[in-house]
Amino acid sequence: MLLKDYKNNFTQELSLFYDEQEIESFFFIVMEAFHEMKRVDLALNPNFELDGMQLLQWETVLSQLKEHKPIQYILGETEFYGLPFFVNENTLIPRPETEELVDWIIKENSKDKELKILDIGTGSGCIAISLAKDLPNAKVYAMDVSEKALEIAQKNAKRNKVTVIFLHQSILETEDLLATFDIIVSNPPYVRNLEKEEIKKNVLDYEPHLALFVEDTDALLFYRKISELAVKNLSENGQLFFEINQYLGKEMTDLLGNLKFQNIELRKDIYGNHRMLKGNFQSK
Ligand code: GLN
Repeated sequence: MLLKDYKNNFTQELSLFYDEQEIESFFFIVMEAFHEMKRVDLALNPNFELDGMQLLQWETVLSQLKEHKPIQYILGETEFYGLPFFVNENTLIPRPETEELVDWIIKENSKDKELKILDIGTGSGCIAISLAKDLPNAKVYAMDVSEKALEIAQKNAKRNKVTVIFLHQSILETEDLLATFDIIVSNPPYVRNLEKEEIKKNVLDYEPHLALFVEDTDALLFYRKISELAVKNLSENGQLFFEINQYLGKEMTDLLGNLKFQNIELRKDIYGNHRMLKGNFQSK
């Protein structure tokens, strides 16, 4: 079958489940993954034919998309901050908002500086690895409670040819980080049960709840613990960066303010939601 004809079939089959734009974007993502062809290459090669084996692969993707499985999990990979990352159901799919957080950290810090960085709750390793790539003189550590997530993160560090020191540890059970860091960053679980209705089916059914949800009654559990550790384990003028729940900007600013962090800055993401926060640590 010609790929251009299969595209019509693919679009029609998915039209009950997704809008046209989304289907088109799935099609091109799969085309690139399977055939290393970009959007224009389809127009340039109208006679590109799928053999029986390739057709079967496309059909497997199609049936999983019908079950709302995220395309990133179907293919087992995605892109973050211009780098390739393996993902599976033990890691969140990296979000564009998190790219903005990484970008903020990179812009605030010089490439020449010998920084010591810790990423808490690293998941796929996307934050730690992209920082290691763009801040080549930094020594990067990354912690996660999930051994299965760390397996993926380790593969990602290798794939992107960077060194990250991984720690299998629960931050909630950590009393001291036993080292001094210049930057501590985290995108911990922050979605409250009361916000579950806002979460799409593909996220709710497939992404790891361990990485997403917190109790309604204690939504800042991870932030409190991490900020308190940061007071003990950040260097003078060290920086604390968080991705945060968009509805808790004020609470987060207060939390850092009460712990005497300086120059606290709350930023919005591309969607206009309060999503990132930074504070500097000064002992006096
Ligand atoms: N931003 C993610 C979402 O919208 C949540 C990430 C997190 O809880 N750290 O699903």
